[in-house]
Amino acid sequence: MVEKTELIGLSKTELEQKLADMGEKPFRAKQLWQWLYFHGETDFDKMSNLSKALRQKLKEHFSITRPKIVTEQLSKDKTRKWLLEFQDGQRVEMVYIPEDGRGAVCLSTQVGCAVGCRFCHTGSQKLTRNLTAGEIVGQFMVARDTYGEWPSPTDETRYLSNIVVMGMGEPLHNPDNVIKALNILTDGDGIAISRRRVTMSTSGIVPKIVPVLQATGVRLAVSLHAPNNQIRSKIMPINDRYPIEEILKACREYQNNDGSRYITFEYLMLDGLNDSLENARELVMLMKKYKLRASFNLIPFNPWPGCLFKPSPSGQVKAFADILEKAGFAAPVRVARGQDILAACGQLKSQKDKIEA
Ligand code: SF4
Repeated sequence: MVEKTELIGLSKTELEQKLADMGEKPFRAKQLWQWLYFHGETDFDKMSNLSKALRQKLKEHFSITRPKIVTEQLSKDKTRKWLLEFQDGQRVEMVYIPEDGRGAVCLSTQVGCAVGCRFCHTGSQKLTRNLTAGEIVGQFMVARDTYGEWPSPTDETRYLSNIVVMGMGEPLHNPDNVIKALNILTDGDGIAISRRRVTMSTSGIVPKIVPVLQATGVRLAVSLHAPNNQIRSKIMPINDRYPIEEILKACREYQNNDGSRYITFEYLMLDGLNDSLENARELVMLMKKYKLRASFNLIPFNPWPGCLFKPSPSGQVKAFADILEKAGFAAPVRVARGQDILAACGQLKSQKDKIEA
């Protein structure tokens, strides 16, 4: 039996080439693309504007696969979390975080992660492998299936309005597949999420920051979590390889290329470690030194069993935020979501692995 090629994850050019190899004209590739990514169709027989003969050929040579849903949990606050499984049995998590009339789907890019941030539950699960472009896109397609958002409704009614690449894995350790996936997700003939509504978060893999942002046009978030190298290296060992100054220089270069883009710095508030008022002032000085247009996302720490850190008291978080805001930087405190379904990154997968071990 001929092994079938998976269609989800092929770039537009690759899809055109596959159809050209079968003797089909380029407009057929466009029609097929729309079936896959605009209508979310998974059944070749329902692709009504393709001839019966072509549908038959497609069925013989290609497959359209979604990641399998292992578990799905809905929190009291409507945060939804899926544990998804790919063809080889590897699993990742995906989370949907609703806001008023819209919301963000948080995608994973690797199974496990090699960065090893000490505060992160995924970091305690070693890297198993990179996800393919199709597996990254497939996650979002599962979310659209769940919310019945095929074909794309208008922005006003779209609940799955934003994408954040902040799930399991470091996206810039899997740059080629992430670029390909983001270009599929933002393609105007298909899923068509605006590039400005897609944010990719990195721990700061310096050489890849500018190239990946240029290749995708999405927004940048950096997991900063500390105002100096001494503290950052304690909680993020990757900082020894790519220290704060190098990361901020890359951020400066990114803003030189596109002056309209704000950068979000994520900052986990860890009691007694990075949450002093002096630390807030250091952050302000860093932003000024590198002339960055930035906002902060202050994240209350959600402890997991066996972790070494404690969340900062809420009064301390507020005083910290005040210093940033007085200096002109937005610094909202992220509201903890999905507490009842373990919505912090990596928690559902770990729990399930433990149960099944
Ligand atoms: S925070 Fe992100 S980069 Fe760090 S270990 Fe967790 S998944 Fe990896």
